[in-house]
Amino acid sequence: MIQLPSGQHITYQLQYRKCGKTSCGTCRDGQGHGPYWYAYWREGSRLRSGYIGKVHPNSLNNPVVEEPVPALI
Ligand SMILES: [Zn+2]
Repeated sequence: MIQLPSGQHITYQLQYRKCGKTSCGTCRDGQGHGPYWYAYWREGSRLRSGYIGKVHPNSLNNPVVEEPVPALI
């Protein structure tokens, strides 16, 4: 978990990311891994970003995990 600045305006974006492995079928056949939440904020004049994860930070108190329910075999 990254340390998000307090008192800053933080923008959250849901994004896919590619891991860069040539052997990864997820990236080769699709848009990459995810979607995961990323946070963006300004630190001075620099745009910073940080990986958050599958759960939006505002829903951490009441997590909504958007994963398929594993099939019972
Ligand atoms: Zn990959």
